[in-house]
Formats: sequence, structure tokens, C-alpha cells
Amino acid sequence: KQNSIIYDATVFIGRFQPFHKGHVNSVKIALRNSKQLIIVLGSYRLSSSVRGPWSAEERIAMIQSALSQAQLKKIKFICIRDRLYNEEIWKSNIINEVEKKVGFGKSIALIGHEKDSSSYYLRLFPQWNFMETGNYQDVNATDFRINYFLEHYKKSLYDNIPEKIIPFLQKYKKSANFKVLKAKFNALESLKVHIKKGAEKTVCNALIMCGGYFLFVKRKEILSQGLYSLPEANPMPQESYFDCISRGLKEETGLNISTEKLRDCYKKEGTFDYAERNPLEKSVSHTLFFEIKEIPFPKVTAGKNIAEVEWVLYDDVYLKENCFYSDFFQIIQWFLRNN
Ligand code: NAD
Repeated sequence: KQNSIIYDATVFIGRFQPFHKGHVNSVKIALRNSKQLIIVLGSYRLSSSVRGPWSAEERIAMIQSALSQAQLKKIKFICIRDRLYNEEIWKSNIINEVEKKVGFGKSIALIGHEKDSSSYYLRLFPQWNFMETGNYQDVNATDFRINYFLEHYKKSLYDNIPEKIIPFLQKYKKSANFKVLKAKFNALESLKVHIKKGAEKTVCNALIMCGGYFLFVKRKEILSQGLYSLPEANPMPQESYFDCISRGLKEETGLNISTEKLRDCYKKEGTFDYAERNPLEKSVSHTLFFEIKEIPFPKVTAGKNIAEVEWVLYDDVYLKENCFYSDFFQIIQWFLRNN
């Protein structure tokens, strides 16, 4: 009813991997209370993973198929890149894009459900009134994805998925991308058994720049297969980060660079601890950034666990943002903060 409309717009942030009946319920609540709804698709241009199989385009298509024309007339979409280590930039990107769609000085609400600690971001927008939806029938995208990737067919698999989305999900199950993710899912399931609960590990990564190019590796191991990672090594007892990186670079890329030379090329370092950065265990990356001033490039060759080692042009890093494993693109963005 027109007289129940409270806000000019409501903002709904999510990953929607996939869009389920709990999300549909939130859309209905938002549209009852506001003239329009801005759906913010997070994790834009992240590489496809077990946790996030579908691209923003696929997610928008799923959402559009699940909603009515009358609902869609009031809905606009925004796609936002994660900025895991630059929260302020993530937040201001959302505020800017919402204001572009809605206009300035409008009454805006944020809708969502504080389900667990990962929902902290709902409290980052105090200028917008918060609309808590409550939990809709315990529907959960993670549970759906687990059953989706499991081999045996579960009759209830699609119970919490809007009917119009089901054909897309069934077709996707026959795709080459599904096959790749399914292999990663299986590997994760069998690796999980060997991981100690509460285990935490620190790894050292190196971001190496040389003449406007960056040095990346593609590992052979299944989880990051086909995707760019930063060279790394696990620090050994008594080993400094510089020693560890010197060793890791030699093992993974054939780059022979002494600890002393690394100290001369050192620019900056950071610690990166996004909770989901490693799907198996808590893993903290201590990354050091170096600029090697050497022309031509130092020679590199793939080590025994590496499928490819590659110098990638600075500008191409942004074009290839969806080709990075885990949070490596966000780590690079943190070092190149102004971009
Ligand atoms: P989601 O799709 O899991 O959930 C979207 C919303 O729906 C949430 O409010 C959630 O609580 C709600 N919801 C889910 N199931 C529900 C149910 N059964 N009943 C009622 N409500 C339900 O998405 P998400 O993971 O919360 O999405 C957050 C997005 O924001 C991600 O893309 C994340 O990467 C991004 N993010 C980025 C940063 C950063 O880059 N700095 C920080 C925080 C969040």
C-alpha cells in the first residue's frame, strides 16, 4: 500500500551465491517499505570458486528470473568489487554508487540479516536506517552449495531456490566450470580431514615488481590451479621473512636473489588475514613488496610445484583481476592503494 512506503530507497548487499528464498523474502520486505530497491552484488569480478561459483552477470540473470516484472521495475543493480584490506574504499564505493542511482538527500535504508560475525558490514552505514529482516526459515546458501557439489542427488536440493532459477542451476551442473569446481570441492573435502581444528599458519608472500611488470605463479595444486598467486614460502624456525622469501622465490620461480639484495629492493610490507582467505584453515599472509631495478628481467623458471611463472604488465593486472586466487588481487590493490 502506498501509505506504508517509508524510504525513497532500500539497499540490499549480498553475494547471492545463489539467490535463494531468504533473499526473495528480503526483497519483498524492502519493496513494501520503499519506492525502489538497490541490489548491491558484492565480490564483483572475483575468480569463480566453490564459495562463489557465479559471475555478477549470472547472479543478476538469476535474480531477474526469480522476480516479477512489477518488482524488477523498482530494482536497480550495482556491482561492487571487494576491497578486503581497504574497508573505507569498499564503503565509499557503495555509498557513491547508491547516490548516483538514488540522488542526494534521499531517505535510504539498508536491509539485511545479522546472521553471524561476517555480517559486521551491515553496521558500517550508520547514515542509513537498518531494516533487520530476521532469519527466513534458516535458508542458507552455504548448505545449498555443499549439497549442489555433492555427488549423490538429494531430492530436496532445490527446495529453497526460487523455481525459475532451478533450470539455470541444473544446466550449470553440466558445464565445464562446474566440473572444475566439483574437483576443487572434492579436494577440499578430503584435505579437511587432515587439518587440525583451530590450526593457524603464517605464510610469506612476495610481490615483485620489475620495469612495470609483476611476478606471479600458477600453482599445480588443485585449489589455485589456473589462477595467479604470489610466490610464497612457509617460514622455518629461526628464519627471517627476508630469508624465507629469498628461499621461496628460488624454489618457486628460479629467481636467485639474496637476502641482502632483497633488503636493497624492499618497499613495503603488510599482514593479510581475511578469515576466508584459505578455505581449509586460518592462514595469515605476511607479504613483502620489492622493486627490482634490473633490465632485462631476471630469468625465471617454474619450480616443481609450479605450472607457470609469468611477468605480467602492471596495466594487465587490472584486466586480469578475475584470474587471481583467493585474496591476492586485494593484497596487490592494498600495495597500489591509489588505484
Ligand atoms: P549473502 O548472499 O550470504 O547474504 C545477503 C544478505 O541476505 C545478508 O544480509 C544475509 O544475512 C541475508 N540472508 C541470508 N540468508 C538469509 C535468510 N535465511 N533469512 C534472512 N536473511 C538472509 O551475502 P553476504 O556474504 O552477506 O554478502 C556480503 C558481500 O559484501 C560479499 O560480497 C562480501 O565480499 C562483501 N563485503 C566486502 C567487504 C570489503 O571488501 N571490505 C566487507 C564486507 C563485505
